[in-house]
Amino acid sequence: MKYIIILISILLLACNTAEKTPQTPYVMVLGVAQDAGYPQMNCKKDCCKQAWENPELQRTTSCLVIIDPTTNQQWIIDATPNIKEQLQLLKQKTGKEKIDGVLLTHAHMGHYTGLMHFGREVMGTNGIPVFAMPKMTTFLEENGPWSQLVELENISLQKLKSDSTFSLNENIKVKPFLVPHRDEFSETVGYEITINNKFLIFIPDIDKWGKWETSITELIKKVDYAFLDATFYKNGELKRDMSEIPHPFVEESMELFSNLSETDKQKVHFIHFNHTNPLLIEGSASQKEVSEKGFNIAKEGQLIGF
Ligand SMILES: [Zn+2]
Ligand SMILES: [Zn+2]
Ligand SMILES: [Zn+2]
Repeated sequence: MKYIIILISILLLACNTAEKTPQTPYVMVLGVAQDAGYPQMNCKKDCCKQAWENPELQRTTSCLVIIDPTTNQQWIIDATPNIKEQLQLLKQKTGKEKIDGVLLTHAHMGHYTGLMHFGREVMGTNGIPVFAMPKMTTFLEENGPWSQLVELENISLQKLKSDSTFSLNENIKVKPFLVPHRDEFSETVGYEITINNKFLIFIPDIDKWGKWETSITELIKKVDYAFLDATFYKNGELKRDMSEIPHPFVEESMELFSNLSETDKQKVHFIHFNHTNPLLIEGSASQKEVSEKGFNIAKEGQLIGF
């Protein structure tokens, strides 16, 4: 009898583990904050106060990882300043921190500066593929310290073309698409990931939806998951002129998406929160409002099955 109970316990444990990590390719959220992370350096205001005191409330810069357990491969979308902690989280979940490539969205500090950890001073990687658009590629090739990563072949740049689909392996397809954003050093892309004929889009940074020639509401209808720029919750959140740093306010996005079906609304996962965004505060009225309206808030460690 004792042995039967032990056997059942082992079987139950095995089932649980299988449920936690999918057996087919999937996506995991490694970070949800805006470029600066949460709390933000030097912020002494209420938005960050609790997070300074309690490390459990801190959040890393937005990042997704695509994992293929059938081939034991994994690729991160964006190399953030928190790459060290994020790869540690990845290791906790998949048992492996080594990545097989990086897909970059653009040259703002939260999205590529983690590449520095691939250099001589840290990992000294050997030809890790870094997928980037043409201007982003030139930016890395022509400016130090990034140019050293290219010269020493720590990274191997793979130039992308917008709206052109390519395969990471036989199970996973990726398509970069251009989005309007403050493109001082590079163009900005979002990514469409296709696994098992299901689609996920990731747009961490974009100017107002109206400035994009693609209709975001029509796009949401066509895909299965949409991880979308939620830098600011509403107008007036910053004291500075917010038109200089345009992003779709979460309030505006929810209004724009209000006529979508419940199923389509469920596809939306807000991400890339500025330290001032109340969606970072657990149990806030804004978090409740988003859930009540039928949308999701991206969480670190969240698994997305296909
Ligand atoms: Zn950003
Ligand atoms: Zn703050
Ligand atoms: Zn940006």
